[in-house]
Amino acid sequence: MDDTAEGPFAECVLCREPTEYPETHKGVTLCPVCEWHEAQRTACSG
Ligand SMILES: [Zn+2]
Repeated sequence: MDDTAEGPFAECVLCREPTEYPETHKGVTLCPVCEWHEAQRTACSG
């Protein structure tokens, strides 16, 4: 459960859920769910 995962994790900028990115991650952090939604949106636009 806690072999490589070390907190604290940044929270998702959209839903405030914890992401798999560390707080030191640069840029926008999205949880897997929002990341998926963003990917779908990007895929469908243009
Ligand atoms: Zn999210």
